[in-house]
Amino acid sequence: MKETSSILHAIPVDPLTGAVSVPIYQTSTFVQDAPGVNKGFDYARTNNPTRQVFENLIAQLEGGAKGIAFASGLAAIDAVLKLLEAGDEIIAIDDIYGGAFRQFTHVYQKFGIKVHYVDVSIPENIIDYITPKTKLLWIETPTNPTLKIADLKTLGSIAQSFNLLFCVDNTFASPVLQKPLSLGADIVIHSATKYLGGHSDLIAGAVVTKTDELGDKIKFIQNASGAILSPFDSWLLIRGIETLHLRVFKHAENALKVAQFLNQSELIRNVYYPGLPNHLGHQIAASQMLAFGGVLSFDFHDDDKELALAFLKHLKLFKLAESLGGAKSLCCLPSEMTHKSIPREKRLSSGVSDSLVRLSVGLEDAADLTEDIQRALNKLKINTIQHD
Ligand SMILES: *Cc1c(COP(=O)(O)O)cnc(C)c1O
Repeated sequence: MKETSSILHAIPVDPLTGAVSVPIYQTSTFVQDAPGVNKGFDYARTNNPTRQVFENLIAQLEGGAKGIAFASGLAAIDAVLKLLEAGDEIIAIDDIYGGAFRQFTHVYQKFGIKVHYVDVSIPENIIDYITPKTKLLWIETPTNPTLKIADLKTLGSIAQSFNLLFCVDNTFASPVLQKPLSLGADIVIHSATKYLGGHSDLIAGAVVTKTDELGDKIKFIQNASGAILSPFDSWLLIRGIETLHLRVFKHAENALKVAQFLNQSELIRNVYYPGLPNHLGHQIAASQMLAFGGVLSFDFHDDDKELALAFLKHLKLFKLAESLGGAKSLCCLPSEMTHKSIPREKRLSSGVSDSLVRLSVGLEDAADLTEDIQRALNKLKINTIQHD
């Protein structure tokens, strides 16, 4: 069976009523037949039937043994970090998601966990940082916001030979486009807030493990710490997953058109999109992804921030907001928004220039999106000429 059909088929019909939509089990507890004898559910922090359907779906999509749903992407990351002990070390990709950086550095460092941030565009770079204390290799691909690509297979084999847990944040690609567990990862995490939900209407996270044993450990940590996903948000995610395949390919198709369009403008310096043949990670992305995702970024000549700000102001279809992966197109200026807390020099050295604009390309007609961009760029040109 094709994946789309098998995922839709895996959404159960309610055995009690025949309801086609999974019921939202809004309950905290479950009546027991006798002490300790129940129908598989006792207390809703531990297990909830609605949540369980989403967890099974995400596990199936990633090709993993177990899925565990969390209150946010950062709560999912937090649960993985709790597999570690004081004294352990992490090697993490250098342009890691800002929230993960904050958690690793400002929450876990004080518990005695050390993190090395490493450029993994050459996978062998990590070997210099591996010590007997290194337990976890943490990467994202594509990265945010410059869409750098990491070679999952090569990193996976290095991780395996040094006995490291290999965790991939698969938020940007989604399991439709990239399946890290099949390329050597032990754990995948998601901010389900993004493509899995797909409609900018919830905050959620997920962990998927390759083995049952790792899944049981994460499940134990979740039950002990408590950052579960609500039944309603679980239901929204089940609904989101019903259209995930359709949405993600459309996002990618639109993003490629927008990237090609931007690439022709003389006002723009660099366009970062792994689907463009001149992108540094294009070949590797093509080998490990089915399409190149819905996010891209670009900056202006002379890193002109005023131009970037004016451009954002003139856009109509792209709404100015953080986040990504929703049906509606969004735009943001990372230097002033998502990446504002990173010191400027560090930010510039990882390619996040002052004028860098990130687009989350939505599901509108591509022609309308390029027209919106063209109109905004035209206004900039008129202004530039007037100023001369
Ligand atoms: C948004 C995001 C997160 C954090 O997820 P939340 O749901 O906001 O907690 C983690 N990783 C990546 C790549 C993200 O884009």
